[in-house]
Amino acid sequence: MSVPTAARTVPLCELDNAEPQLFEELIATVRGIAATGAFTGGEAVEAFERDYAAWCEAPHAIGVSSGTEALVLALRALNVGVGDEVVVPANSFIATAEAVSLVGARPRFADVDPQTQLITAQSVERALTAAVRVVVPVHLFGRTVELAPLLELTREHGLMLVEDAAQAHGARYRGRRVGTFGDAGTFSFYPAKNLGGWGDGGAVVTTRADVAERVRLLRSHGESPRYHHRVVGTTARLDALQAAILRRKLVRLDSWNDARRAVAARLREALSGAEDVVAPPPAAAHGDHVYHQFVIRTSDRDRMRAILASAGVASGVHYPVPIHRTDAYAHLAEDHDVAPVATRLAGELLSLPIFPRMDEQQIELVATSVREAREQLRPSTPPPEPC
Ligand SMILES: *Cc1c(COP(=O)(O)O)cnc(C)c1O
Repeated sequence: MSVPTAARTVPLCELDNAEPQLFEELIATVRGIAATGAFTGGEAVEAFERDYAAWCEAPHAIGVSSGTEALVLALRALNVGVGDEVVVPANSFIATAEAVSLVGARPRFADVDPQTQLITAQSVERALTAAVRVVVPVHLFGRTVELAPLLELTREHGLMLVEDAAQAHGARYRGRRVGTFGDAGTFSFYPAKNLGGWGDGGAVVTTRADVAERVRLLRSHGESPRYHHRVVGTTARLDALQAAILRRKLVRLDSWNDARRAVAARLREALSGAEDVVAPPPAAAHGDHVYHQFVIRTSDRDRMRAILASAGVASGVHYPVPIHRTDAYAHLAEDHDVAPVATRLAGELLSLPIFPRMDEQQIELVATSVREAREQLRPSTPPPEPC
């Protein structure tokens, strides 16, 4: 019987070059597109859009050039602009807020719930002003936001809802895929996302035919038909190479998300009983989690990271500064203290490695390294306090 050799290092995530068979298949796909010479639009993009809409169980999916552009075009399609305000979570990738600023509107930051680390109907309600027209929940790290009370709130106040699902492709809420609940849902296909291309890409998904048509116009110079420019648009198309690659990968995405859930269950088990580190909040009963990241909380993050690194275990911080406290948003000075929970979490969240092909030895190395780090840091590390 052979003794398995221990995994020496574990990266934070893995890309397609780590899987030779998939890699070869995608190289052949790239070659095929290159041979046709159809690099923008065309059959490859249309085929991906059809498949992605079907997979999301939505009537429309429009491929665009990034997740940020997906948000910008969704907001523009909803006529959001100067003088309008949009509620976004204080704890997200900065793009959620940037998109609001890019259309000339102002972000209003909602704090997050200390348990779920996501916005709630209550925190959104506190952030509402007379100028707010849209709420953008983010299914951060792959965990679904509690949408039912949010939808009730937006209905009550006559607001629109755009889901930022850049980290949650395929997650289900009450049985339905995220991205299909509000006026539009947006996705990113940045290489490290649960569905990633070989460059930048994104999509807008919507149940509204008018929004779909508007996004299609805007992403390509407001043009329809050729050289008839009906509105001021931009260059924000999904390119054919990305579309073809994404289409090949899409058929595997459900099984990859399942694999992420299985890895998360093992990592969670390894943390059970620990008081000095807090495991990520699991999916709610009628919600879901596709574990774009596996994020723990520790009050001694820097030392924990250093110990993990010396054991060959990579880690990440998503995100070290909450959006409302970044230099980019310092000009909204009155927002400095609007989200104390997000601010506190920004100092404690630590992302551990997670990816679909993470093997037994890698899982074991992460688990033992976290255990050893906790031993070394005890008793100087107090448990994270309730926010
Ligand atoms: C990645 C991401 C985006 C932006 O996507 P890009 O494709 O990088 O422009 C937006 N929102 C969230 C929550 C993200 O994680």
